[in-house]
Amino acid sequence: MELKFVDKALETTTPRRIAQIQLAKLKPIVARAWKSNGFYREFWARHGAKPKAIASLDQFAAEIPIARKADFIADQKTVPPYGQRLAGLRGAKRPHLVFTTSGTSGQGVEVHAQTHAERLRSYKVSDHLYRWGGLKRGDSVFLCYPITLLGGGRIEIYGIESYGLTVFPVGNYDVERKLDLMERFKPDAVIATTSYLGHLAAVGAKRGKLHRPKALFGGGEGASYSWFEKQQEIWGAPIYNHYGATQTRVDHIYPCERGIGTRAHPALLHNIAPWFILEVVDPATGKHVKDGERGEMVITSLVHTDYPFIRHGMGDAAVYRESGFCPCGRPFSGVEIGTLERMDDMKKLKGINVWPQSVDESVFAHDGVDEYQVVLTRDDRAADVATVRVMPKPGMGPEQARKLCAAISSELRRRIGLNFVVEPAAEGEVKHSEYKARRWSDRRDSPVRETPAKS
Ligand SMILES: [Zn+2]
Repeated sequence: MELKFVDKALETTTPRRIAQIQLAKLKPIVARAWKSNGFYREFWARHGAKPKAIASLDQFAAEIPIARKADFIADQKTVPPYGQRLAGLRGAKRPHLVFTTSGTSGQGVEVHAQTHAERLRSYKVSDHLYRWGGLKRGDSVFLCYPITLLGGGRIEIYGIESYGLTVFPVGNYDVERKLDLMERFKPDAVIATTSYLGHLAAVGAKRGKLHRPKALFGGGEGASYSWFEKQQEIWGAPIYNHYGATQTRVDHIYPCERGIGTRAHPALLHNIAPWFILEVVDPATGKHVKDGERGEMVITSLVHTDYPFIRHGMGDAAVYRESGFCPCGRPFSGVEIGTLERMDDMKKLKGINVWPQSVDESVFAHDGVDEYQVVLTRDDRAADVATVRVMPKPGMGPEQARKLCAAISSELRRRIGLNFVVEPAAEGEVKHSEYKARRWSDRRDSPVRETPAKS
């Protein structure tokens, strides 16, 4: 495996040296936030932190409390529209990039901003994604995110241009038009949300042809290892699935040249550690988890000195991996591919914690699955019932579909330890997700029992 570096010195140094670099960048960020960011100053003081210098990363993690979305929203409500956190935006005599979050969490829409200096630094982060993903200056990219107030779209388009790629901003066209344009311009790469890559592939397959780019870049959500494997087969190209959020104002957790890795040794998604501090924290104890354990991702940006982002609980869970997990030797730790999901996506079924990703893994490990959905209900004894409705690929006969469902059912029992009802769905009955995968429907609190449309 030939390694492609953005900054060879940083990518071949030791984790210890990386920690020193992080600490050196962190110190002035925290000092400045205490001094001039009304939000962090008040939030930290309210949680018992003292305005003193940061002497070590351990001290930082022990003394600075974790902020969350709800804290940002409360701040914006008190001082609308930007909050004390972004007070510098009002009457500013310099340009800003302003983003909002989508508000799909139901908690409200966050506002985020970055200055020109922060923006230039963020490109140094995103360069890793395209470099490690094998793209060269002048390669062409289809950008499938629409350009809106959301971070996803604008963050990518500026980063792509800064890296030196030719961008086709096709996000505002419908899927058919995107596929037509893809046939016409034959881009070297396609960048979209993870599930949208699946949507493009499914519609493309129906049309009987799908352009084969050099590489695919997915993001905005996780997926199971099997799902990635399947998509790579369909597209005939490697997928580089990355992590970041509007809050971080640039994605910063990327696969290296290994892409998704292998089933026996899945990829480590490396955090670009010179620019972001990644902690993976056990929500029960507040302590960093060990290699191979799952916890909540807590992020601090070292890019953002004007509008800081410090020890933020992302609400995303993943399995933490030390840098040594990846044979590429880079000193950047991170998370294991196929393990990332929203903390609040976790379902309690018959008292057991079930992560949707593990269900995804069990379903897509079988050939012949086009799409699926999970419906949670209760039976007449108030026990949880999880029904997995599997839509087979077009052309599968009913007998084969029944066998497929039986195989998925035993795989779910083996992997999760629960019985799922697995039944075939007719073609077109389960919709492909166009944005974040929304495959689960929890109807357990519904007072009205639904009657089946067909008997
Ligand atoms: Zn690696």
